[in-house]
Amino acid sequence: MTTSEHYLDQSATTRPSETALRALNEAPWGNPSSVHRIGLEAAAALKEARAALGKTLGMARLPKDRLIFTSCGTESNNIALLGTAAAKKRDPDNPGTILLSAGEHPSLENPAQLLEKRGYRVIRIPTAGGLLDLDFLRDALENAASPVIFAGFMLVNNETGAVYDVKAAASLVRAKFPDAVIHCDAVQGYLKLKKNRFSPASLGVDTMTLSAHKVHAVRGAGALYMSENVIRRKNIVPVMPGGGQEWGVRSGTENLPAIASFAAAALEGYSELDARLEKTAALRAVLEEGIGRLAEECPGLGLNVPAGEMQPGIASVRLPAIRSETMLNYLSGRGVYVSAGSACSAAAKKKSAALTAFGLRDDEADSVIRVSFDHTNTEEDIRAFLEGLGEGVRSLQRKR
Ligand code: PLP
Repeated sequence: MTTSEHYLDQSATTRPSETALRALNEAPWGNPSSVHRIGLEAAAALKEARAALGKTLGMARLPKDRLIFTSCGTESNNIALLGTAAAKKRDPDNPGTILLSAGEHPSLENPAQLLEKRGYRVIRIPTAGGLLDLDFLRDALENAASPVIFAGFMLVNNETGAVYDVKAAASLVRAKFPDAVIHCDAVQGYLKLKKNRFSPASLGVDTMTLSAHKVHAVRGAGALYMSENVIRRKNIVPVMPGGGQEWGVRSGTENLPAIASFAAAALEGYSELDARLEKTAALRAVLEEGIGRLAEECPGLGLNVPAGEMQPGIASVRLPAIRSETMLNYLSGRGVYVSAGSACSAAAKKKSAALTAFGLRDDEADSVIRVSFDHTNTEEDIRAFLEGLGEGVRSLQRKR
């Protein structure tokens, strides 16, 4: 990155911190399953990384609860859902009900669609305006045609920044279906909200997904938290049998360098969290003020603001009848890097389910860009974006 470049796509991925890179380089290279000295050294480092991540999740009972290392957030979400579906003998004609917030990340929504084809009933809880519809959820729980086996609620929507009331949703599900696995994809909330807002205990969930590369570690590591409750009841079984690493839940030699990088970045993020959030909130204020000013001269421009709480580092910007990709390319030409919806749905050129669930029409969802930033950004980045956006709107609208 040169000084004239402005990376505002932190929700897609983040640049590894110096601390994370050092941990990557210094991680023991041995196989943690080997029982000789080299292996034992690796096993100790793995244990240390697990404890470090546990600390950031407020996990005091690590031996009973478990943190499983995976390769990424996508894998953690898949293990949670597909592992739950596979865990118990199911009636093939009516195998069970799965609840999901509408507009979940494809790494949870797509495996749910797979199960839907196999006869599971999937009910999506509306998230219009960025609010998880708890009345709809109550109704769905009351009228479920088959037992709810899994309920997945993301903590922060990756395209709108809306923070969902996972705690309230989890307690409703728990009261009616105590055997259900209650899952939270916390990828975009972990180390981006206040400390007590992303721990499994404070949310009342059984499983939780994290991803290393969203928190300034390298790619190649993710984590799945599993509660004692889930483990004791064998509510999740392995979907990828193999050598039995990670208590058999995720076989495959652990990627210790990436895991060590993850743990180091997580500890760093945890210790600096308050200052990071303060900086992000200040950048948000600059962005909102700037968009407000631009909106006065460019009707149709604005923010899709969640009605409830939001993760301040994600802003969904509505454009006045300019396609997202056109604006993205324009800004990219000026060294300002944002995304159209989320990076994955943009690559798949699919309509954004998250934006539709938020309440946007297809044509509106086609004219949205996501700007995501954090403590590593500067006011200059936000100003460069605002300037590019303003000029882009004027020039691209003229060309139409
Ligand atoms: N869940 C959410 C909410 C995400 O935003 C992402 C990535 O963008 C993922 C899951 C997938 O994480 P990973 O890229 O580590 O597979």
